[in-house]
Formats: sequence, C-alpha cells, structure tokens
Amino acid sequence: MARRTLPSGIEVEVLGRCTGGSFCKETATHSVTFAPRPGYTPTGPNHPKGVCQRHVETNYVSDEEYARQNRATSLAFGPRVSRRSQHEIRPLTPQEAVEVAHETAAPERWEAEGRIGVFRRIVELHQAEEIDGVLVDGISAQHVIALYDALKPEQQQLYASWGVLRQVDAAFRLLK
Ligand SMILES: [Zn+2]
Repeated sequence: MARRTLPSGIEVEVLGRCTGGSFCKETATHSVTFAPRPGYTPTGPNHPKGVCQRHVETNYVSDEEYARQNRATSLAFGPRVSRRSQHEIRPLTPQEAVEVAHETAAPERWEAEGRIGVFRRIVELHQAEEIDGVLVDGISAQHVIALYDALKPEQQQLYASWGVLRQVDAAFRLLK
C-alpha cells in the first residue's frame, strides 16, 4: 500500500483508508497526532494519521494496558499498541473528511475516464496492470498521465485513442 499526505496534511493509505493496520480496508474516520511531551521533540514530520474507529480503539490504549502488553510481549518486538495519553485523537475535521472522501471516490473517477483511468489507477496503487494485453508498470503509467494531463482537451482525445505501446513510447520521448 502507498501512503499519501492529503492537502490538509493528514496521512492516509490509498483510497482514503486507515493507516492503523496492515491493509485495513476501512476508511479513515479519525485523526491521530503524536503529542509532543515537554523535553521531547519528535524527529521528522508529525503528520496526523488517518485511522478507522476500530483501530483507534485497538491501537491506542491506556497506560496500564500498555504496561501490561509491554510485559506480555517479547522485548524484541515490543508492544504493538501505543499510549492513548501520548496522542491527540479526534474525528476528522470537515476539510479532512472532504479530502478523504475524494480519495475514497477515486475508483469512480478512474472508471469514468476509461483506459486513461486505468493508467491513473496503476500510478495511485503502485501496481502494474495489463492494458489491452500490455503490462504497464508504475513509471510508464506515470509518464502517460503526466503527458495526458499536459495536453489540451482535443489532443487528449487523440492521445487517448492510441494503442498502449504508442502512448507509452510518446510519453517517454516527450517527457525526457
Ligand atoms: Zn483500520
């Protein structure tokens, strides 16, 4: 899966999904931010993370529960849960909710764009797919989309009608 940071700064998995578990298919409903404590500044960006209701409950536990799991889990791995007291957890703001909903609706947009939408899906999901029998990887799809988006509408129509190999070839030549 590929995480992305939306314009408001919240991080979600593709399609606006929860970052709280491996391949959680739920849509993010809450924002979780690491709350810096006095004397401790987190290194690196501290983006809020989009998490679903279930993972808010299972991933962020009381200090007592954290200590209990810490004792129960092997030191090599440590507890898989985090301390609720060290995080700010809140429902998505209206702006975040709009951005997440936009991500969730991506498949409908890809569908509406036909074959160009398949190139977009390959880029967004970082997953190669066959288009008309040709296996298209992420880099090729990225080039095709970059070129397509730079074209005027009437040129887009023509470009979209070409065969896959010709589209990819043109994209690599023109975007060098
Ligand atoms: Zn989840």
